[in-house]
Amino acid sequence: EAKNRGRGRTVNYTSNLMAKTFSLKRLADELQEAVENGEIIAHYQPIFDVRTSAIIGVEALVRWQHPRRGVLEPKAFLDVAEQLGLLHAIDDTVFRKAVAVIDHAKAAGVPLPGISVNISSQRLRDPLLLDQLASFDLPPGTVHFELLESIPFDRPDTALIKTVNAIRKLGIGIDLDDFGSGYASLVGLNQVRPDRLKIAGQLIAPITGSEESLQIVETIVRIARTFNIGVICEGVTSKAHYKKLEALGCFLQQGYYFSRPMDEDQFIAFMRTRNGLD
Ligand code: C2E
Ligand code: MG
Ligand code: MG
Ligand code: MG
Repeated sequence: EAKNRGRGRTVNYTSNLMAKTFSLKRLADELQEAVENGEIIAHYQPIFDVRTSAIIGVEALVRWQHPRRGVLEPKAFLDVAEQLGLLHAIDDTVFRKAVAVIDHAKAAGVPLPGISVNISSQRLRDPLLLDQLASFDLPPGTVHFELLESIPFDRPDTALIKTVNAIRKLGIGIDLDDFGSGYASLVGLNQVRPDRLKIAGQLIAPITGSEESLQIVETIVRIARTFNIGVICEGVTSKAHYKKLEALGCFLQQGYYFSRPMDEDQFIAFMRTRNGLD
């Protein structure tokens, strides 16, 4: 009996694994097609200056408009995309959409002060990147790339740092994303000298409940000031967060408390309403 149960479990485990492998393979096939078929889109989440409530920028966040499953968030497909080597194509797609939104917003009477695009290390290492970026006629200072803090910048004069500096020469800002969630490398900060760092939502979430958490954020803010780097706080979900951060002098904030990510049409409509145009 025990033997049978044991065997049954083995069978179950194996079929689970097979089902998983099968659905992963299917996801991979579908994602490959999605990239080719234009199912990769972006949603847009504004970044506010809380002193004036002005929108100082907007972040483009990738979404997969899946033909049957609806709009999928990055956690459903970015890991697989990375393994398949599709991240650079996805990043390129989102970048092009973001650049188009600059024009669309202008045409709609709500010119954007800035737009932020996430960029993977896969895309940063793409040998075509710099030539492709140079072929766009970007208004200087408008586009920012968000690089994950976890991208290793540990050695001086690496190819990556050269690429980052070349990107900056094209008038694109460099922001470090999710700062404080990984190694928070000061060596990295010193090497890259980003324009801004985005304090990770994970660090923002607990500040209303713990004095220690608030002090960690305060310390990061002080480090940023030492390096003369701007600060954006992301994942601001409540009024209490917003007030505590404002008291620390963190005026650039982003999060559900202010606005959720929206599709392009919703975002343009949102901007027009705010500007009293509709
Ligand atoms: P991220 O760049 O740090 O983006 C912030 C994430 O937090 C977004 O999730 C956003 O929707 C979410 N968020 C915004 N406000 C709040 C809030 O108040 N509370 C909470 N809990 N979450 C909030 P999303 O869109 O699921 O993106 C997840 C991550 O996927 C991004 O984190 C970024 O690392 C990556 N990603 C997004 N778009 C792209 C892209 O085009 N290319 C690459 N390579 N990565 C991307
Ligand atoms: Mg998410
Ligand atoms: Mg980001
Ligand atoms: Mg982030």
